[in-house]
Amino acid sequence: MAVYQKLLVAIDLTEEAPLVLDKAMAIAKVHAAEVALVHVVEPVGYAYGGDIPMDLTELQDQLDKAAREQLQAYGEKHGITSDNQIVVVGRPESEIHRLSEELNTDLIVVGSHGRKGFQLLLGSTANGVLHGAKCDVLAVRIDT
Ligand code: AMP
Repeated sequence: MAVYQKLLVAIDLTEEAPLVLDKAMAIAKVHAAEVALVHVVEPVGYAYGGDIPMDLTELQDQLDKAAREQLQAYGEKHGITSDNQIVVVGRPESEIHRLSEELNTDLIVVGSHGRKGFQLLLGSTANGVLHGAKCDVLAVRIDT
């Protein structure tokens, strides 16, 4: 029975991305579901504190372009259409929530590290996505 119709798969473009995507594609196949792939580029202003008198537009554009190229490569490999390869700028958790609602996805797939102790207090993207999501969330366990 097809429970899920549209998945939102969030990848961070590290070496764990293929693990998350491979599992999401296997689930999508079982459910004959559509897949939207997203990467959120964090604004460079955040990373640099936001008050450096520098024009960071070019750096932001380069990050954006690199993310688009990587998403396109993943998309082509897995037969994900270009309109479902989405690169946005913002904070990962909130952009993933926003897109999930906008695209009406019924499952969000993210990677999750088995964090313990102090690391748990720091939270994770998977935690952030789980809290406040309007649909199911699958956290693919990444062994580190
Ligand atoms: P983290 O908690 O940052 O180690 O990330 C765990 C998972 O959250 C990743 O495997 C991705 O599924 C998702 N994620 C983290 N950062 C991003 C990002 N910038 N864009 C999209 N997904 C992300």
